[in-house]
Amino acid sequence: MTKACCRQIRSDYVIPQTIRGAGRPILAGMTPTHTATRDCQVLVVGAGPTGLTLAAQLLARGICARIIDKGEGPASQSRALGIQARTLELLDTMGLADAFIGQGHRVRHLRMYAGQRNLLDLDLARNGSRYGFTLHLPQSQTETLLRARVRELGGTIEQRAELVRLAERGDAVDATLRDATGREIEVSARYVVGCDGAHSRVRHQTGLPFEGQPYPQDWLLADVALDGAGSNDAVHAFFRPNGLPLVCIPMGGQRWRLVMANAGDRGGQPPTFAEIQELAADRAPWPIEVSGPEWLSSFRCHLRSATSYRRGRVLLAGDAAHIHSPAGGQGMNTGMMDAHNLAWKLALVTDGRAPDALLDTYGQERIPVAAGVLKFTDKLTGLLTMRNRAKRAVRDTAIPVVSRVPMVQRAAARKLSQLSVAYPRSPLTQPGGHGRGPKPGDRFPDVEVHTEHGPARLHHLLGSGRHVLIVSGAGIHSALETAGIGRYAELIDVVGGNPGSGFALVRPDAILAARGSATDTHRVVGYLRRLCGRREPEPATAKVLSEVAAP
Ligand SMILES: Cc1cc2nc3c(=O)[nH]c(=O)nc-3n(C[C@H](O)[C@H](O)[C@H](O)COP(=O)(O)OP(=O)(O)OC[C@H]3O[C@@H](n4cnc5c(N)ncnc54)[C@H](O)[C@@H]3O)c2cc1C
Repeated sequence: MTKACCRQIRSDYVIPQTIRGAGRPILAGMTPTHTATRDCQVLVVGAGPTGLTLAAQLLARGICARIIDKGEGPASQSRALGIQARTLELLDTMGLADAFIGQGHRVRHLRMYAGQRNLLDLDLARNGSRYGFTLHLPQSQTETLLRARVRELGGTIEQRAELVRLAERGDAVDATLRDATGREIEVSARYVVGCDGAHSRVRHQTGLPFEGQPYPQDWLLADVALDGAGSNDAVHAFFRPNGLPLVCIPMGGQRWRLVMANAGDRGGQPPTFAEIQELAADRAPWPIEVSGPEWLSSFRCHLRSATSYRRGRVLLAGDAAHIHSPAGGQGMNTGMMDAHNLAWKLALVTDGRAPDALLDTYGQERIPVAAGVLKFTDKLTGLLTMRNRAKRAVRDTAIPVVSRVPMVQRAAARKLSQLSVAYPRSPLTQPGGHGRGPKPGDRFPDVEVHTEHGPARLHHLLGSGRHVLIVSGAGIHSALETAGIGRYAELIDVVGGNPGSGFALVRPDAILAARGSATDTHRVVGYLRRLCGRREPEPATAKVLSEVAAP
């Protein structure tokens, strides 16, 4: 394969790399039109939060990735505010969590009211993560921080480069891009990932359906200064009998976002500030004062999902693959977690260390997650816009009773924070194996482990892009060696710790792949063999077979 960029596998996520050709501007100094060169391993289309996360993770693993965007530059609108705990854990593995937290506003509670009556006070500190809150940060700032990381890793975001067409041929995809002057340029990549949002051209090119429907009502949005809504460490959602709620979302200091369902269709017409003031005063159960408008908008939500995330060498991630109501602040997070799931697999495959079939597990794992997010946000939207008197009575009676149960609080906090996302039925997950704590397929918490350099945090180690095998003692370690893990040394870091069983094998995206005791070591080797697409039996098994076969 001809490569226009040289690759280098690095073990430390945060060390910038020199990748010649990665991110080289398409628009300057390239031969125009239809001269195909294999000039990158992965072409990332779209520099929103999903594409930037993916590009940063690929670049950090030494993959030659190019990222293009048809826009002029970074987004200026605040759009997604809520960064959930699981996404903060992902940012932690990238060494970015502190920078995000330094700029954002921590929100610990979700409160729901019917009139002045408080129905729910959900405390996110019960989510079981070191990040017991949602971080509120305008999407424009999220993108700025991610862009800085891409640049630090040697990448360039190529602006005003619009993907027009894709054509797959053999072991590559030819992408036709259009620059600001209308000139068309061809780029060839081993894989293309469409992170190009809800109207994805990449998805259209694959012909994959985007099934679903719009919600019946428009929503109004206003970023304003607000006085009187309540404490600014909580989102306050005020239900109303007519199904037209008011949601107040703190952005830090006096700044708040107001979100209100509008009755019917506005044809995309944004609200005026006077309209917002009037509606807010009417819908709040006590006097509030709205001033200083910064962004006024209206939008229509859709509930849609692609039926597959892959066609050949073209993959979809983020809003290109699924869209839903912003209730619960899940969308951007789901996209960034798609990228987290895909990046390490794509890195192994493009590097030739795993077979192409590994990429099938991306959709097998993420499509059910997106289906769950669509269902969850739809339920939240239903709660917010409920009009039927009998249903409202049940809602207003059940929520206060049920939500007081500690187990329900914990489960709800984990769900909202995306910490309960798991892949128990993934073909990669090795079921079984005795132990306490997370089960195979679950997220593994950020425990302390012991490396040859001293104590370390698991999630920091995962930033290397390798798997981490936590073993509880020397006996287990030698059993694993006998089982043949030595053949996979370049994929895993072995550390000491208390994994809740004899060993725990954790994937780069912090998912527990396999666990067990000394008698379960075949689970680790079985997982690694499947990952690498090896068919031959492992040394221990081969030895047994040859002994059986011997005369
Ligand atoms: C008002 C509002 C509030 C929201 N609040 C939240 C929230 O609190 N929490 C949350 O998690 N989510 C929220 N969301 C959803 C969130 O904004 C999206 O889920 C998120 O932006 C998706 O990121 P993405 O990278 O997948 O796509 P996008 O952000 O849409 O990025 C796609 C990129 O692709 C580029 N592009 C498109 N077509 C092409 C092409 N042909 N060639 C090259 N480039 C192309 C675009 O220029 C764009 O930069 C909200 C959304 C809205 C509208």
